[in-house]
Amino acid sequence: MKRSSPPASRNLALSPAEEPHSEHFTHYVSRLTRHFLLISFFSFLFIASCTAPYSVTPSPLLTSSPAPLATPSSLLTSSPVPSPIPSPTPIPLQHPQYTLNLLIDYTYKSALVEETILYPNLSAESLLNLMLAVEPNLWTGAFNLKALAVDGVPIGTYRLEGQRLEISLPQPLYPGSVVNLSLTYSLILPQIPADSDPNKVRPQIYGYTSRQVNLVGWYPFIVPYIPGTGWVLHNPWYYGEHLVYDCADFDVIVRFDDASEPKIAASGLELPSEAGRRFHLENGRTFALSFSTLYEVKSEVVGGVTVYSYYFPFYESSGEAVLNATAQALQAYTQHFGPYPHTTLTAIQGDFNDGMEFSGLHFLSHDFYNLYDGTPQNYLTIVAAHETAHQWWFDLVGNNQALEPWLDEALSTYSERIFYAQYYPELVDWWWSYRVNFYQPAGWLDVRIYDAGGYRPYTDAVYLRGAGFLEDLRQRIGDETFFAFLKDYAAQYAHRRATTADFFALLRQHTSVDYSDIIGKYFKGSH
Ligand SMILES: [Zn+2]
Repeated sequence: MKRSSPPASRNLALSPAEEPHSEHFTHYVSRLTRHFLLISFFSFLFIASCTAPYSVTPSPLLTSSPAPLATPSSLLTSSPVPSPIPSPTPIPLQHPQYTLNLLIDYTYKSALVEETILYPNLSAESLLNLMLAVEPNLWTGAFNLKALAVDGVPIGTYRLEGQRLEISLPQPLYPGSVVNLSLTYSLILPQIPADSDPNKVRPQIYGYTSRQVNLVGWYPFIVPYIPGTGWVLHNPWYYGEHLVYDCADFDVIVRFDDASEPKIAASGLELPSEAGRRFHLENGRTFALSFSTLYEVKSEVVGGVTVYSYYFPFYESSGEAVLNATAQALQAYTQHFGPYPHTTLTAIQGDFNDGMEFSGLHFLSHDFYNLYDGTPQNYLTIVAAHETAHQWWFDLVGNNQALEPWLDEALSTYSERIFYAQYYPELVDWWWSYRVNFYQPAGWLDVRIYDAGGYRPYTDAVYLRGAGFLEDLRQRIGDETFFAFLKDYAAQYAHRRATTADFFALLRQHTSVDYSDIIGKYFKGSH
């Protein structure tokens, strides 16, 4: 992945004096402090009454007898004091919980964020450190960490190098225990470059254009931990996605520090709140936001899910087409793959040359809106179907996008064919010809993003040959078995991550038909 400037690299103790624009942000901090004190108080009540105790003692989270809660001050000692609030039976924390309070200066394209992560150690190993991905730090000076605390105790040193933030824990995080990590930081948003050739440079989504602000990959998150392997954080690459995610819950409050009041498109459902605009997403991989004072919006409710289409003025027919295609795809995939995991799904006209998926939200390039011709025979419809499919093959069923990108991209590309077969069966042949065969794709599906040899060879192999593999497999094992397998794959690996080995192990449970020749045609490895 190419960035607009070299990665920043730091390894130092916190030093407010080094913070640029400190006067500007001191103003933010003072305003935020009052606001967050109130929120923090209620957050503490919630934590104290609803979730398991912190990791002060190695008490198992799943025990039915609640261990005493520690107050922040007692975290410095070895003998926790009982909670002043009688604690009911703890609800085990099944995945991390992110609380993000965001104060944005829309005019100056900057933000101040207070973030709290409740992270349960679900592995059988004790953890001595935490590893976070910090994508904004890939831009020089764009991410400034102002405060860091573990279980309420300030941490003065950390290691921040490029996208990697490593924090040594003051004491081990035992299996089943939960740690509370809090961070306060400012973001200086980068400008999104004008249209670039996606064959040469990966489009940048994070940042701002003259009419849009996109917060994607904007907050530090704890990367997955795999026992025996360690923290999973791969390097960025010129194309493809490199990050791997656990599922988590997100509670995000957005406030503005100026009078711009842009419209907000967000992952998750908006909830009433006096603290600001509040959005909530459960069991998602990423939380994305997009702002514009220009957005127009259309929406439609499909099977209890509200679908939104955000677009710029004068693109009403394109915006409507995106809404319809996304809603149709949602219905088709619910039928074929199983229930959609969220209550909202948002499509956004993006000021860059790409489509990109996030949990409950996707962007479609403005180029597709420009080229929309009023028919379903175009990339606006194709990519709307593709990005919607990622809600099953990325968000619901996760995978290692850097090492096994075919798992989500081949399935999402083939899902386009399922979409066309359902709504425009007369266009399936056109789809194969226009979307796949035109490129005469070649290459193995089981390549890492780093080994594919360029953007075009990568998409030819992983996306287009990926669709060919799934078509050949479907014809070999039959429609009934193929769709039963896909539905089972989505159910078995819902909110988890699947590997290539998992995919084929489950497939073998669904069929005894020999498909080894198809594997040999598409995969360099044996599966
Ligand atoms: Zn994709």
